[in-house]
Amino acid sequence: MAGRPGYLTLPIFSALAAIGYVYYTAVFLAVPRWLGLATAAGVANAAAFTALAAACLATYAVAVRRDPGRVPPGFVPDVEDAESTVHEIKRKGGDLRYCQKCCHYKPPRAHHCRVCKRCVLKMDHHCIWINNCVGHENYKIFLVFVLYAVVASFYALILIIGSVLHSVPKDEQSGSDSSRSSIIICGVILSPLALALAVLLGWHIYLILQNKTTIEYHEGVRAMWLAEKGGDLYHHPYDLGVYENLISVLGSNIFCWLCPVSNTVGNGLRYRTSYDIPISTQPL
Ligand SMILES: [Zn+2]
Ligand SMILES: [Zn+2]
Repeated sequence: MAGRPGYLTLPIFSALAAIGYVYYTAVFLAVPRWLGLATAAGVANAAAFTALAAACLATYAVAVRRDPGRVPPGFVPDVEDAESTVHEIKRKGGDLRYCQKCCHYKPPRAHHCRVCKRCVLKMDHHCIWINNCVGHENYKIFLVFVLYAVVASFYALILIIGSVLHSVPKDEQSGSDSSRSSIIICGVILSPLALALAVLLGWHIYLILQNKTTIEYHEGVRAMWLAEKGGDLYHHPYDLGVYENLISVLGSNIFCWLCPVSNTVGNGLRYRTSYDIPISTQPL
């Protein structure tokens, strides 16, 4: 059934097929043609690309399988939060946010996903390519997957371009012309994909630097317009400054920021805001 996270859907099948196709072309066509699989450089490149492809597959599987974050049964927002007017952009008239469909209160930054048919903590967006929401629990692994996918795509493009421009002497090759056109076709398909992934990565880096989700970015555009109309300045409440924003999304250990481990800060039910003082003494 579409919308049930973790189930194999056509987009997931397509993503897996694309990874397999690019891997085959890079390691079994491009590397042998350019460097040869019997040389040290050829083996090193094949091994490095294999490791990268495995990292892509592993992080992709986690992003698909991991629950993006559920609202615990019987969740009631803190009275302190309810009294605050800064925590939620969409709160109307100071009321607590309540999901009519799920019949429970919504924690700050949680949103109801129409595809998943439930509320998701710190929901970023519903991604059809993983058939899952990207939320509090799987945002980082999603981001690391996109990063690995960008690196792998450009690495594959380098191998493809190298193998088209240079090749080992003709007598050591077999079926050189057909492999050359296969490599070129893969390069033509991969180029727009690599560009799209790089744009997606850049977009999420831009969001992380401001501690915004994709939903909050769109809400923020509207809030900024409304504030300007009223003669005010709009400030995103979760923007704690670049370094604190990076920590709250990628984890407190700077050496693990790009590692495929989930070191999510907090339980997803409460988030620090720039109105909480002092920031340095707040529990994470
Ligand atoms: Zn809901
Ligand atoms: Zn969803």
